[in-house]
Amino acid sequence: MTDDLFRADAYLQECASRIVRLDEAGVVLDRTVFYPLGGGQAGDTGTLLLADGRTLAIADTRKAKDAEGKPTDEILHVPAPGQEALLAALSAGDAVTARIDWERRHRLMRFHTATHLLCHLVAQPVNGCSITPDYARLDFHMTDPLDKDALTAGLAQLVGAAHPLAVGAISDAELDANPSLVKSMSVQPPRGTGTVRTIRIGGEADAQIDFQPCGGTHVANTAEIGAVVVTKIEKKSASTRRVVLGWNTP
Ligand SMILES: [Zn+2]
Repeated sequence: MTDDLFRADAYLQECASRIVRLDEAGVVLDRTVFYPLGGGQAGDTGTLLLADGRTLAIADTRKAKDAEGKPTDEILHVPAPGQEALLAALSAGDAVTARIDWERRHRLMRFHTATHLLCHLVAQPVNGCSITPDYARLDFHMTDPLDKDALTAGLAQLVGAAHPLAVGAISDAELDANPSLVKSMSVQPPRGTGTVRTIRIGGEADAQIDFQPCGGTHVANTAEIGAVVVTKIEKKSASTRRVVLGWNTP
C-alpha cells in the first residue's frame, strides 16, 4: 500500500519515497504527498526528483485499480507524456523525492474548504461536487432558488471570522448511528478501517460551523481561503441547484 502522508498533514509539499513498481499506467511509491483524484477533488500534479537530479513530471494522481477496476490502497503517479526514456531508466527500489505543485494544491485546499462552508450556508444534501484549481462546483438536491450575492457575503463572513479546522475520526458504528452527518449523496465516506476521517470547522457544540466525514485536503483556518466568490448559480434540473465558486481576481 502507499502511505498517504497528506491525510495527516495536508501542508506537506514533498517527501522522500521509494518506487514500489511502475508500468505504463504510472509510478507507485511507498509513501507520497500526492492526493489522488477523489471525493470531487482533482488529483495533484508535481515532480518526482531522481537521485541523479533529473525530474519526472507528474500530470495527474489516481487511486490504482485492480483487475476488476476496483480502487486499491496504492496511489498511482501518472507521468506527463513524452518521458518514455526517463521512465525506462527507473526501477523498483529507486529513491525519489515526491514534490507536489504546491501553489495549485493550495488553491484546491482553499476551494475544498470553501465547499464545506457552502454546506453550512445551504443546509441541503449534496449530489455532486468538483474541485479544480480554477473553479469549484457543488450541486445541491433542492428546489428553492439560491441567492448568489447572499452566498458570497456568507462565505466572506465565515472566511473573515477565521474559524479553525480540526481533523478527527469517528467509528463506523458512530457514523451508522448518525447518518445525517453524511451530507453528500454522491460521495460515500471512506470506510474499511473501522474509523472514518472527519473534518470539523469551528469549535465544539454551538460554535460548530460544519462537521462531516471527508478524505480530502483542507486549509487549517477559514481565513486562509481568501477571496472566494460565487460566480454562478445554475438550475441543473428541477431538483438540483449548482453553486459555482471562483477567485475574486480583478
Ligand atoms: Zn472536505
